[in-house]
Amino acid sequence: MTNPKGIPNIGNTCFANSVLQVLGQTELLRNLLFDCQGGTAYMLKTLLDDLNTCDKRCVNESLVSRLLSSVFKRDGSFRLGRQDDSHSFFLSLLECVQADSGGNPYGIFEGMMKNRFEYDKCSHLDDSEEQRFTSLLMPIDNHKDLRDCIEDFRRMEEFEENLIQCRKCITKQQDTKATRRTVLTRLPEILVLQMGRFAEYITATGIKRIRKNNGKIRFVTEMNLTEEHEGKDIPYDYDLYGVVSHTGTIEGGHYTAAVKVGTKWWYCSDRYIVHGANPAEDPSAGPYLLFYRRRGKGLMITDLQSRTTHQDTNMEANV
Ligand SMILES: [Zn+2]
Repeated sequence: MTNPKGIPNIGNTCFANSVLQVLGQTELLRNLLFDCQGGTAYMLKTLLDDLNTCDKRCVNESLVSRLLSSVFKRDGSFRLGRQDDSHSFFLSLLECVQADSGGNPYGIFEGMMKNRFEYDKCSHLDDSEEQRFTSLLMPIDNHKDLRDCIEDFRRMEEFEENLIQCRKCITKQQDTKATRRTVLTRLPEILVLQMGRFAEYITATGIKRIRKNNGKIRFVTEMNLTEEHEGKDIPYDYDLYGVVSHTGTIEGGHYTAAVKVGTKWWYCSDRYIVHGANPAEDPSAGPYLLFYRRRGKGLMITDLQSRTTHQDTNMEANV
């Protein structure tokens, strides 16, 4: 077991470095990349290997620069030297890996969910088509605890009378009300929760801006979630192993990561790595991305390759 290594900041790249630190501790991804021969996937593999094995304090700067140039070249929304969003970088990196490697990185992070509508007049339940998600966007509002965010995410939403009509009833019901709730139908190996800290708004003068919710959120290192399968709730245990945090404002902020290696937590801020406390016990915690690993035997690489390949480009579970 080696300590994580620092990652040089090559110009406001802490948003990428923080995600790379967590991916360095994502064994399933490293296994998937094991045979990679070229492209961005190979660059990522080399960097993640270096993070875990190099005997220097820091990974080679040229590895970081090659990888980021390659991702930014493919996804024109990033620019070297400009601060960006670490969740967007995570998704963009997965797309690059998908394109360049024989394997399917989405098989590691992807789950399925659907919407369930219930109508008060006929009592019919009507499920939407399942949708894939790579991460779940957690509403923060005034919540202080991750449990409340998850509860809010799954909660029932009520629709006005006759706003939605039941598809199972042949004749249109009058004065019917509907509720909708989110049902998780397949939980992923690695569950990524994105706190809804950043929200777009339009200023009085009509300019689009982003506002940040700096609220503290308590979270736990061990979590139990259920997926619904053929009418049964199947429970799974998850363990936290990576946290990406953002401090400061939109204009001047900084991303850091906390990663668990073996039984120890490390705090990572670009080149700076220090043994740290369990981030779940930090009362000032303002997490942005939480990475939970499903307990159990875990997927084998052959399982990942046999899963259907990722087709949708927009899989955000925005609820
Ligand atoms: Zn009905």
